[in-house]
Amino acid sequence: MAEQHDENAHEHEGHEHEEPTGPVEVIGAEPDLSKGTARPITVVGNPVLHRECRQVTEFDEQLSALIDDMFQSMYAAEGVGLAANQIGVDAKVFVYDCPDDRNVRHIGHVINPVLEELPVDRRTLDDGNEGCLSVPTAYAELARPEYAAVTGQDKDGNEIRVEGTGFFARCLQHETDHLNGYLYIDRLSKRDRKDALRQMAEGTPKYATVPND
Ligand SMILES: [Zn+2]
Repeated sequence: MAEQHDENAHEHEGHEHEEPTGPVEVIGAEPDLSKGTARPITVVGNPVLHRECRQVTEFDEQLSALIDDMFQSMYAAEGVGLAANQIGVDAKVFVYDCPDDRNVRHIGHVINPVLEELPVDRRTLDDGNEGCLSVPTAYAELARPEYAAVTGQDKDGNEIRVEGTGFFARCLQHETDHLNGYLYIDRLSKRDRKDALRQMAEGTPKYATVPND
């Protein structure tokens, strides 16, 4: 998922003397950036993005190396979340380094993620802006539940559960969608989808992408 897009950024000009409020709380561990290599990002139209990825069954060194490459690729593209098919790998894995609505920074990976059915009292929708590294330079408003939880495994095969609110909840849903073969633009109205594709056609990504045939 792309970084949060602040449409009102210009309104904050003149307030640059406001000090940040203390150190940011971090949940998770920063990856070892001496490992892995950034790879180019697949974009809408590449078949690997439009079908369900394979379930991961081998929790081996190859999987660890994939996660290292995914973190490198996500940071190179300045994203906050990345699914394996976004670097052309057909496997149910995503990584994230994403802030939530309380500005807590969440870092980690999930293998074989499944979104939990939400309890009725947690189905409040959040009208946020969303972007995707695989739809470069485009953003759209998309209502999503403001809370999400996924269950899955870590790279060693241990069962894990990750939950989040606000922008991080959006990220968990966005990345799980990727691994099921859906982009966020597939959830937009026809008109908004068309507009997102127009934004993409008019923009130039700041990172390497895989050309479509
Ligand atoms: Zn995405």
